[in-house]
Amino acid sequence: MSDCGARDWLASQGGPGLGAFLSGADAVGIGMEFDFENGEGLGFQTDQFFMEQALREARRAYQAGEVPIGAVVVRRGEIIARAWNQVETLKDATAHAEMLALTSAQTAYGDWRLEGSTLYVTKEPCPMCAGAIVHCRPDRVVFGALDPKGGAAGGWINLLQSNPPLNHRCEITMGVMEDECVGILKSFFRDAREKKGPPKPSR
Ligand code: ZN
Repeated sequence: MSDCGARDWLASQGGPGLGAFLSGADAVGIGMEFDFENGEGLGFQTDQFFMEQALREARRAYQAGEVPIGAVVVRRGEIIARAWNQVETLKDATAHAEMLALTSAQTAYGDWRLEGSTLYVTKEPCPMCAGAIVHCRPDRVVFGALDPKGGAAGGWINLLQSNPPLNHRCEITMGVMEDECVGILKSFFRDAREKKGPPKPSR
């Protein structure tokens, strides 16, 4: 279905479905691009809408003094899980946004198989998270900031589309709202450096 067809379809459905989808969301215009019938995104604009939701989670992490990374899991146009990086808060090195979002999504599914879902995350997943993604089997992974040093979805290595393949392969879309996703990370680390101040002279 084309974007135009989706709009026509939406128009014919009236308000309730759209209202339910948009409840609690800010980006109304972008949300209207969604194809409710097939439960699939219609391209980059829809991805932007959900990435903005992941960025909201990243901002929560920032406020909590955590490295600002956020994630949401989407199924049939609905956010079923959201999470932000909580490594410091929980004192748990595995509490990356993706890990927490996947666990929450499995609860929402009532199953560990997340087939039919898409994980949106503001930064490219690390090898731990990519491993968890392969086990949970979402159809797609969409991320903003590429991580050439530690990313495991194509930046450094690619565990989501490995060859020979692991037991699941994901479709990958990278660079969605990249400037915003990189910007919040840069801002966080700049703040952290400024708070730390210049190095004290050693005695
Ligand atoms: Zn990770």
